[in-house]
Amino acid sequence: MVPVPSQVDSTESIPSTVKRLREYFESGATQSSTWREEQLSALVTMLEVEEKAILDALAKDIRKCTFEGHLSEIFSVKNEAIEARDEVSAWMKPEKIPMSLIGGIAASTRVVHDPLGVGLIIGAWNYPIMLTLGPLVAAISAGNTALLKPSELVPTCAALISRLVPQYLDKNAFAVVEGGIPETTEILAQRFDHIFFTGSPPVAKIVMAAAAKNLTPVVLELGGKSPAIVCADANLGTAARRVAWGKFFNAGQTCIGVDYAIIEDSIYDEFLDRLASTVQDFYGPLPQQSPDFARIVNEANLDRIHQLTDGQEIVIGGQTDRDDLYLAPTILRDVSPDSPVMQDEIFGPVLPTMRFSDLDEVISFINAGEKPLAQYIFSGSRQKQDRIIAETSSGAVGINDTLSQILIPGAPFGGVGQSGMGAYHGYDGYLAYTHRRTVLTRSAAVDPPVRYPPYSDLKAKLTGWLL
Ligand code: NAD
Repeated sequence: MVPVPSQVDSTESIPSTVKRLREYFESGATQSSTWREEQLSALVTMLEVEEKAILDALAKDIRKCTFEGHLSEIFSVKNEAIEARDEVSAWMKPEKIPMSLIGGIAASTRVVHDPLGVGLIIGAWNYPIMLTLGPLVAAISAGNTALLKPSELVPTCAALISRLVPQYLDKNAFAVVEGGIPETTEILAQRFDHIFFTGSPPVAKIVMAAAAKNLTPVVLELGGKSPAIVCADANLGTAARRVAWGKFFNAGQTCIGVDYAIIEDSIYDEFLDRLASTVQDFYGPLPQQSPDFARIVNEANLDRIHQLTDGQEIVIGGQTDRDDLYLAPTILRDVSPDSPVMQDEIFGPVLPTMRFSDLDEVISFINAGEKPLAQYIFSGSRQKQDRIIAETSSGAVGINDTLSQILIPGAPFGGVGQSGMGAYHGYDGYLAYTHRRTVLTRSAAVDPPVRYPPYSDLKAKLTGWLL
């Protein structure tokens, strides 16, 4: 058995952690709206009180700057937790289902919301707080217990989550296990009632295969090549700033980040000039010295991303400093769709750009690839925006904007196809961890024999009305 490096009790094994989470769930302690509201409030308090510790950990692991850490890791989860806390008692109310006029005389149907049980949350490293505590908000709001497994690639953040969760939240209901593949493999051998995975498609297949052994439902939050389509009728200044922000936020290590830009031929050169000067405006002439530009998570990723620029025409950037895990914000010109940089999600600060002359080309190109997590359309024409939305598929769409769709309270967040399955945030997160259980109540006092054998044509007609 693999020892557990850090959690509530370091002597506790993974199977006994899951067992105790299950026993606590079965005690019913997590079911009331009061418990859920208290836990969500405690999570908000934790994010407020520990803000500096969280920002320090993010800076240490990936040199995430204060602004980006605050917006994407603290503000986002806090908003989710506040919304869930304020709405959960309304979400929990049984739903009344209308019945037919006659069928409803001596019967009623409602849908009650049952928590699923013990959830497993496996997080990715690029937003280590948001991607573990965000799903936790959903698990709590639906009355579940949960085991959290943060990414081992951000050890300071993982250790912090491991310390803070039992300090602020109900220790009996939540546990954190730190570790990499061996620990996650042992965790996945346990039976859970729900698995929430954020990460890459190859690991998602491992997770889903493990879940299949127990027919455990999953939410998979993955990634993909999210395009920014820039039409000639867009506001080019705003588009350049928002494409650059959507690409270089967190040094391009963002699942919903802009992966590549496809730009209308007539404005291609002008737009590239605008992008290049935007990068200078954002990060100055030496981005390595900018406090606002993050680092690559490790050398392996740095080398992988840097290699993608081989043989490409670089408009701006391209420099690396391996000791500093630095890769400059980089823009590539006239990239061929067959080149390596256009095959897989880049997940780094390299922006390949291509030209298009009509929308048919763009739509066919996007549809020839896997469905992306996000798609960004820059155009002043409602007709073009609607056409692209209607003829393509993606997890979400941003029109004349990038990234900020993730921050809209109440809007589902999730992928489709290879970019993921299931969604969370707000009520969607609550539903992901809830079984909607139909409860039919029928009076026993009246029992017309129409549904019972011996059957007849008349009984068949009447049954349809009565039930
Ligand atoms: P990853 O798939 O390598 O790792 C994710 C988690 O899985 C980590 O906790 C890791 O410890 C665990 N893991 C890794 N290999 C494993 C194995 N063989 N068996 C069991 N567990 C294993 O992903 P990553 O590098 O942390 O994150 C990058 C990917 O995540 C990108 O594809 C990105 O698009 C995606 N992502 C998606 C979202 C989203 O919300 N949709 C958010 C962030 C990142």
